[in-house]
Amino acid sequence: MVSEKMHTLGTKKSTIRTIFEYGKKRAAEVGAENVYDFSIGNPNVPAPEVVKTAIIDILNTVDTCELHGYTIAPGLPQVRETIAASINRRFGTNFAGKNLFMTSGAAAAITICFKALHEDGADDEFITFAPYFPEYGCFVESVGSKLSVVPANTEDFQIQFDKLEEMLSPKTKAVIINSPNNPSGVVYSEATIKKLAGMLSAKEKEFGHPIFIISDEPYRELVYGGLTVPYVAKYYQNTLVCYSWSKSLSLPGERIGYIVVPDEVADFGRVYGAIAGAARVLTHVNASSLFQRVVARCVDEPSNIAAYEHNGNLLYNGLIEAGFTCQKPQGAFYLFPKALEDDDRAFCKKAMEYDLLLVPGSDFGCPGYFRAAYCIKESTIRNALPVFKKLAAEYK
Ligand code: PLP
Repeated sequence: MVSEKMHTLGTKKSTIRTIFEYGKKRAAEVGAENVYDFSIGNPNVPAPEVVKTAIIDILNTVDTCELHGYTIAPGLPQVRETIAASINRRFGTNFAGKNLFMTSGAAAAITICFKALHEDGADDEFITFAPYFPEYGCFVESVGSKLSVVPANTEDFQIQFDKLEEMLSPKTKAVIINSPNNPSGVVYSEATIKKLAGMLSAKEKEFGHPIFIISDEPYRELVYGGLTVPYVAKYYQNTLVCYSWSKSLSLPGERIGYIVVPDEVADFGRVYGAIAGAARVLTHVNASSLFQRVVARCVDEPSNIAAYEHNGNLLYNGLIEAGFTCQKPQGAFYLFPKALEDDDRAFCKKAMEYDLLLVPGSDFGCPGYFRAAYCIKESTIRNALPVFKKLAAEYK
């Protein structure tokens, strides 16, 4: 009667959601202060005051019918010009409004890219790198293509290039990268991006067709210790950038982001046209008219990264002291330490007995690890550290 696939997707909760909901139930039983919930990546830093000011001012000054009316599908021209100018100032690029397509966040942006690039009926594939955002799997499958995953480089969570090279084939449409990364918290270095660009350029020549990089960047602004995140489109022509304000301005519920299609991509007109067509069949219509205007007003507002950086360092230092191994926090708001037993699901179950709620690395295609989201109250992290120590002591 209904699609089995859709029914499963709609009713089988993700591990993250299951743990998060368990946490709420458990908090009602033992008190919220006794549950250490590191499960979900929901920003806990409030949206900056300028967002509220902009919303109020827009409501007070823009004609209501215009404000709440449809916009053209790619987004308001002036908004796109303003955002393009901001990207150009920051990254030395040369975009104009016509290079941007406004979307309902990064999830919509990447799915539109998958839909635009997949050719109907073709046996093509998209490649990503473990550990990866698990929604990529169902997004790619929903457009009728296939996701292949390059195993993790657990040394430093950069890219295993020998494995990537083996997996690239004439079927490869695009590779999806996500830096700063959910869940590893690692930022791809300039050397990684250059090597990736070099390898893909060579493969494009060998196969005689473009291979795109889809750069999924909702965490671009959240970087620590003075690191910079290379702007991928400057290193590789066939790059589509997917951005969102969900994390940078703490607006995940407002659903606002964009795709950049640089002039340099192979056949700009066809790619931009396919993006518009994909958005159309995915019922995009237009990104929120109010929030297009809001983000244009806040486009140069820096993210409040101090609280995340502080939390990341606090958790990292505490975990290292407790005997865990883990990459230092570089970006996003996650740590991805090694579990203390090979079976990461068993480890996270054991942690649950201590009311430490962690997500198994297997959910991100990287068994043997776990994700701890640190976009939570500082006091929760502080109170959890002795509990992590007790848990670690069980494995000594
Ligand atoms: N990509 C990654 C890697 C994410 O972690 C998320 C959200 O957590 C998204 C995309 C989706 O973000 P948005 O809220 O902008 O759709």
